[in-house]
Amino acid sequence: MAKTNVKKTAKAGKSNKHVYFFGAGKADGNRTMKDLLGGKGAGLAEMTNAGLPVPPGFTISTAVCNIYYKEHRKIPAAIDREIADQLKKLEKAAGATLGSTENPLLVSVRSGAKFSMPGMMDTILNLGLNDDAVEGLKRRTGNGRFAFDSYRRFIQMFGSVVLEIPKDAFEHEFEGEKSARGARLDTDLDEQALRNVVQRFKKVVKDRTKRDFPQDPHQQLTMARDAVFRSWMNARAIEYRRIYDIPDHIGTAVNVQMMVFGNTGDRSGTGVGFTRNPATGAKEFYGEFLINAQGEDVVAGIRTPQPIRELEQVMPKAYKQLREITTRLEKNYKDVQDFEFTIQDERLFMLQTRSGKRTGYAAVVIATDLVAEKLVTPKEAILLVDPESLNQLLAPGFDPDEWKKIPVTTRGLPASPGAASGEVVFSADRAVEWVNQGKQVILVRRETVPDDIHGMFVAQGILTATGGMTSHAAVVGRQMGKPSIVGAGGLAIDESARQFRVDGKTVKEGDFVSFDGLSGEVKLGKVASKPSEILQVVNGTLAAKKSDIYQRFEKLLSWADQYRRLGVRANADLQDQAELAYAFGARGIGLCRTEHMFFGEGRIPIVQRMILADNEADRRKALNELLPLQRDDFYGVFKGMPGQPVTIRTIDPPLHEFLPKREDLMVDVARLEALGKKGAELDEKRRLLARVEQLHEFNPMLGHRGVRLGITYPEITEMQTRAIIEAACRLHKEGTKVIPEIMIPLVGHVKELRDQKAVVDRVATEVMKEQGVKVKYHVGTMIEVPRGSITADQIATEAQFFSFGTNDLTQLAYGFSRDDVGKFLRIYQEKKILDRDPFASIDTEGVGALVEMGVRLGRKTRPDLKLGICGEHGGDPASIHFFHTVGLDYVSASPYRIPVARLAAAQAALSVKVGD
Ligand code: ADP
Ligand code: MG
Ligand code: MG
Repeated sequence: MAKTNVKKTAKAGKSNKHVYFFGAGKADGNRTMKDLLGGKGAGLAEMTNAGLPVPPGFTISTAVCNIYYKEHRKIPAAIDREIADQLKKLEKAAGATLGSTENPLLVSVRSGAKFSMPGMMDTILNLGLNDDAVEGLKRRTGNGRFAFDSYRRFIQMFGSVVLEIPKDAFEHEFEGEKSARGARLDTDLDEQALRNVVQRFKKVVKDRTKRDFPQDPHQQLTMARDAVFRSWMNARAIEYRRIYDIPDHIGTAVNVQMMVFGNTGDRSGTGVGFTRNPATGAKEFYGEFLINAQGEDVVAGIRTPQPIRELEQVMPKAYKQLREITTRLEKNYKDVQDFEFTIQDERLFMLQTRSGKRTGYAAVVIATDLVAEKLVTPKEAILLVDPESLNQLLAPGFDPDEWKKIPVTTRGLPASPGAASGEVVFSADRAVEWVNQGKQVILVRRETVPDDIHGMFVAQGILTATGGMTSHAAVVGRQMGKPSIVGAGGLAIDESARQFRVDGKTVKEGDFVSFDGLSGEVKLGKVASKPSEILQVVNGTLAAKKSDIYQRFEKLLSWADQYRRLGVRANADLQDQAELAYAFGARGIGLCRTEHMFFGEGRIPIVQRMILADNEADRRKALNELLPLQRDDFYGVFKGMPGQPVTIRTIDPPLHEFLPKREDLMVDVARLEALGKKGAELDEKRRLLARVEQLHEFNPMLGHRGVRLGITYPEITEMQTRAIIEAACRLHKEGTKVIPEIMIPLVGHVKELRDQKAVVDRVATEVMKEQGVKVKYHVGTMIEVPRGSITADQIATEAQFFSFGTNDLTQLAYGFSRDDVGKFLRIYQEKKILDRDPFASIDTEGVGALVEMGVRLGRKTRPDLKLGICGEHGGDPASIHFFHTVGLDYVSASPYRIPVARLAAAQAALSVKVGD
């Protein structure tokens, strides 16, 4: 009943009311109405209702912005009338009239969307002045300097924003007058000088527009309002929204507000501030102000502003009131506030308040402080931190002063945050070699491939010229917590000459390069960096009690753990990754990729022998050599995640990935032949080449991989099962509980899984009998082929668990090769065909529907089916939200994304209930 009522009023509000008044202690709106009033309008309404000193005004809603565009940039007459009515009300509240020569009402016309877009749109101050009103203002205030200072500001703002005259044209005239008078600061100009400036500005307008500066204040208001709506679609606002994922259709509101003046003299001023330090989170009053100034003077750098603390000496009463008000605002909003104020003749006015943007570091400090101060509950604190921003706390940072000294040379996609500095190398082997000599290196590659892993592991950072956010370099970089920039298209890399060209310069092997994986900026030269404290604690090199930030970080995450429903596991292949993930709070491994172990030291030759074998006996011989190595690997991974479920995936990639490149072998063979060399080496290369050609596939991602390998070479599955169960038995005997989950990849048909499950069960039984130990294990599958989702009810007859492999699922659902998507994805995004990279954030409508279907059908067959996700999306907050909603049991993410996943899972649980 109540619900329908709310709906009705909301609907009625939408169709009838377009303009919302605020003033004299009462506002039509409030803080919950950001959608309609924009952030600024909602804040002004809220402050008015709270009885704070806010100049009166009205907000033209965001809905009008959409109407404006729908009506081909016109405002319907009915809305014009509504605005006129509200203007009357404002004139009454202000005790002044727009256009009056005796007592003119002056207003600001301010843009303000739901999300703050600093500097993107425009504001006009002192609107309502004309040649007569300015004299009226002078008479009423007895302050001619002030009246003409206001007028010249108005002409300049109106001229540039509404009439679209370049700002320079006005600045040029202003500087001209200043130098003619020998004035250093704008405040050095007296009334007469400012009268001259006004004349100069009016001439600029006449010259540029062939018209006089509009003298009718009502016309000024209409023009300014429309200019604000226009500015919603200016190029920089559009670009800003693209970067921050803000939809175009939400529109901007327009706030028309009575002016208050910080430029009446030395008892006036204007300023901006934060209730806490937004960089460090420290509880300190933070901000700046300027005496005898207006609007943006503080941020425009015209004069150097003073720290806000000094206001206490200059105007103690206003300062005290400002502190009281902002403290109250923080309490009311339960968050740090970023505010604007103006003091007119020692009287304080509040002009804006909003939640302050802050660094990840500050976010954690502030959230934990607010709980300690009992301003918010732990549950509320969880919602105050952007999960993504936690990454900043893990990344090593450059010494900021050093970083600033060097210009940016090029940019790429910020794939993995952190500061990296080192000597450039172009191959993984060289990276290892140089690191062994004690050097720090940056591995620069056109793109990385799986067998670069050893070089990636030792490098300070990874920099590639091609590839997207889920390219190999990006995925592995994040998993390793290694600063990485990918797709830096400005690099022209010549790997054989061991150099690259960028921005007209040549960088050779051994030259220093530095980059910031958070911003994507690359610089030439060396910059000193500092390791992250949290990582030092997690790695055990710093005691937790010695690190304040670590304690806060862990406290926040432990609160998150209390509220999340989703389990958080890690994607980890090696013992130390598992240990790190455990220390970050992962409980369980959702994906252990066994093939990464094949690239380990000394293993590739054995793997190659296994692949080259042309009969089963030879293949089994090679597999027998791999067995003890894999067993030790699994033993380590289990140990790194004690007592937790560990999902181990059987071999997945096509075999050719373990062999040298076809082109390289062809060159080698040709070279040996040309040199007339005969013998073992040439024979070996020829044999390799023949096998590589045999394995060559046109679409390897759709080729002989995943379960298909296990079906054609069951002895591989046998060996891997044996290694897993033997390791589990060994730990069991040592008294450690392990829960192996053997996962078969790329299953699309239940019979594929049935085939492999039979192999797993047979070998597992065999091993347990040999060892005289019984361990509990599960067999399940990845759901990553669309057919797997569609027939999930059948597959669940064989599978005890599903893990959604959303990387392949996205690739196959869209038919986008994720290694080639970089070529067109950007254009897709520019043309708004896709809002986001579907490999970074799950496409809920398409790929997500396949996940939902898999969940529903799977549980129909097997209600206790365990469901998880192990694609890259497992570490993405928006995707985690979705996985929570569809009712998965856990997400699995790379070790360094675990904190993000814990927090995002809690936020999902607090904002939606399953089934909503
Ligand atoms: P932005 O969103 O870019 O901050 P604002 O609309 O907040 O733009 O306004 C720009 C500047 O003008 C701010 O410094 C603000 O405090 C000041 N300002 C806006 N309206 C008034 C007003 N009615 N009286 C005095 N100053 C104002
Ligand atoms: Mg502002
Ligand atoms: Mg896959």
